[in-house]
Amino acid sequence: NTRVVLASRPQGEPVAANFRLEQVAVPTPGPGQVLLRNRWLSLDPYMRGRMEEGPSYAAPVAVDAVMEGRTVSEVIASNHPDIAVGERVVATGNWQTHAVVDGDSITRTLGDTGLPVSTALGVYGMPGFTAYAGLQEIGRLQPGETLVVAAASGPVGATVGQIAKLQGARTVGIAGGEQKRRYLETLGFDVALDHRADDFAARLRAALPNGIDVYFENVGGHVFEAVVPLLNDFARIPVCGTIATYNARGAVLPGPDRLPGFMSQVLRQRLTVRGFIQSDFHALFPAFLADMARWLQEGKVQYREDIVEGLAQAPEAFFGLLKGRNFGKLVVKLD
Ligand code: NDP
Repeated sequence: NTRVVLASRPQGEPVAANFRLEQVAVPTPGPGQVLLRNRWLSLDPYMRGRMEEGPSYAAPVAVDAVMEGRTVSEVIASNHPDIAVGERVVATGNWQTHAVVDGDSITRTLGDTGLPVSTALGVYGMPGFTAYAGLQEIGRLQPGETLVVAAASGPVGATVGQIAKLQGARTVGIAGGEQKRRYLETLGFDVALDHRADDFAARLRAALPNGIDVYFENVGGHVFEAVVPLLNDFARIPVCGTIATYNARGAVLPGPDRLPGFMSQVLRQRLTVRGFIQSDFHALFPAFLADMARWLQEGKVQYREDIVEGLAQAPEAFFGLLKGRNFGKLVVKLD
């Protein structure tokens, strides 16, 4: 079993020394368990949080333990009555080639959709569901309203923009660099902007003469700063991610404290600002699978994957994810 463990906790930006690639014996499944050969590993921004100690919505990965992650895997031994050898499943197989998991913890979301199996980690898996649930439960778009989303070429943002369009919204997508910006146009965003442009805030303002009704928050940082003055009364902000600050140290960031001013704006404009973790809405998952399978089969939702070959490349690819070097859903092919 080849695996990547957390060697040490990062001080700010993660570096190669925080990970260690090692070889250990292939584990043996106990009663009710299955042995998996992982084929695809998902790399996701939340993993930065798992490297960190301290209070959060999930426990950190322990130092010297294998890094956590979702996988598409093949069952190669089974002690579970309902799971057969040879099945393709979705599991928490982690950053390694082989894994033992409880049979009851696996899912078979791909079913007979005919979709490429890697989509179960992206548009047809957790990130796609995050977009679907956050929009439905918090965004509550009405036809004709305006939605803004950043990290809009990634699996969450791209899906947010396309579902919002299906719901009759006007959509503004934001991404880093001209190549990603042009890709957003092919996805059907009404306006596509590069947040690295010097005049980004002015362009955003110009694109939004009628303000913003839903800001799907994926990034925080300077994008959020540009968005705040453009929010309409009763705007909704599903707070999904703040990747711009994942490498920052401490709970309160340096700089002038504008929190009291923002809270006053929340009151005056009756804003809804609601953080969520996709699993909060797990009851919606079957409806998501049905809707998304149809949208994908009908070509109404498009997606893009960024495929990296081999487990040894995972740390470097993960560093890139936090800086926008990925272009589409980042997955590692483990074959
Ligand atoms: P992406 O594939 O979109 O990758 C992250 C992207 O964030 C980068 O490619 C980069 O895109 C962008 N980014 C990084 N730093 C900055 C910055 N300083 N300013 C603006 N953009 C930045 O990731 P996902 O689609 O998987 O995730 C998107 C967000 O959703 C993340 O914040 C993630 O943590 C969150 N999330 C939350 C979940 C929940 O349950 N709440 C579940 C899943 C994801 P670019 O080059 O365009 O700048």
